Amino acid sequence: MIDSIMPTYARIDIAFDRGEGVYLYDTNGRRYLDFLAGIAVDCLGHCHPHLVKELTSQVGKLWHTSNLYRVPGQEKLADRLVANSFADSVFFTNSGAEAIECGLKSIRRYHYLNGAPERYRVICAANAFHGRTLATIAAGGQAKHLEGFGPAVDGFDHVAFGNLNEMRAAITPQTAAILVEPVQGEGGVNPAPQGYLEELRAIADEFGLLLMFDEVQCGIGRTGRLFAHEWAGIVPDVMAIAKGIGGGFPVGACLAVEKVASVMTAGTHGTTYGGNPLAMAAANAVLDVILEDGFIANVEHTGRYFRQKLEGLVSKYPAVLEAVSGKGLMLGLRATADGGNSALNNELFGLGLLTALAGNNVVRFVPPLIVNEQHIDDAISMIDQACQKLSAA
Ligand SMILES: *Cc1c(COP(=O)(O)O)cnc(C)c1O
Repeated sequence: MIDSIMPTYARIDIAFDRGEGVYLYDTNGRRYLDFLAGIAVDCLGHCHPHLVKELTSQVGKLWHTSNLYRVPGQEKLADRLVANSFADSVFFTNSGAEAIECGLKSIRRYHYLNGAPERYRVICAANAFHGRTLATIAAGGQAKHLEGFGPAVDGFDHVAFGNLNEMRAAITPQTAAILVEPVQGEGGVNPAPQGYLEELRAIADEFGLLLMFDEVQCGIGRTGRLFAHEWAGIVPDVMAIAKGIGGGFPVGACLAVEKVASVMTAGTHGTTYGGNPLAMAAANAVLDVILEDGFIANVEHTGRYFRQKLEGLVSKYPAVLEAVSGKGLMLGLRATADGGNSALNNELFGLGLLTALAGNNVVRFVPPLIVNEQHIDDAISMIDQACQKLSAA
């Protein structure tokens, strides 16, 4: 008989009972060093005192009122996101996929209202990941996510990530926008090559396209900048965020410049839960900490430290590890042997280090942004041990 939970996940047979900082404790009391952080979500670790305080206080006051009324927490958070980004206006969602959906709808409606309804196609990158709704699996374009769910939502074209010739060649009179992740997450922790995002901005301007970034995973301080595209010194027209912004509470947002946001007039789009008082309390509390002086600079610093140590292991175990990729505290280790990422991931789990898999034979490290050098040293020692075991096998 089928389990009462739909069998969409191949879960590891373990459950966690509580968390504290960068540690999780399972129901048997065993401690794990959490370098997965709920898949890049728990950016301040578990039970961060400021988040607990702010959310607890909100829980006793008000949970949900709907978007029929003003929500002061939304106004506060939107003002702060606008003040700290390229954006002029924000739409709140419950997830990353919904934030992408809002961006895609805004893009289509922008061209529609500008007298070019034929411009509805979006050029995306191969090995992209934008979520699991019908439109976002079409945008992601991965066969394994699309199989059995046809017909695929129309309007997405794909080119190799980082290839500008392919990008230019894919543009047609129907092209509305370009959508990429500044650092691909699920696809294998691939940062955009040097100059790529700058050139996408120039191409978008040249052809009258909108430029949209998916910073659901790489945003909110993860790469050592508040948003990963800041490294390139250019700005998009639309951007989706989620994961880190809620610190573990489901929150997403679609940020846009005025000319795009202004097409989403009353009645064009909506959500029941998006931006409710509880979610906004969590996200505002996350920003309180992330925007503190020196917090993001510290992410850059610890990211460099971690990367250097990982590179040391790549040199030490060439039969097991091939390369380090990523930026800040969004790092990947590519395994040498076919499927070597699974083997390494399993070994690390056994040693008490939680990590995630990514495409391209990569083990992904997206620890809470509060990790310090001692935590990183502990993780490195476990990775070293795992590699030693795997190279002996
Ligand atoms: C996780 C993720 C999404 C989807 O977010 P959900 O909250 O799972 O809908 C979209 N894009 C990227 C880059 C992601 O990492």
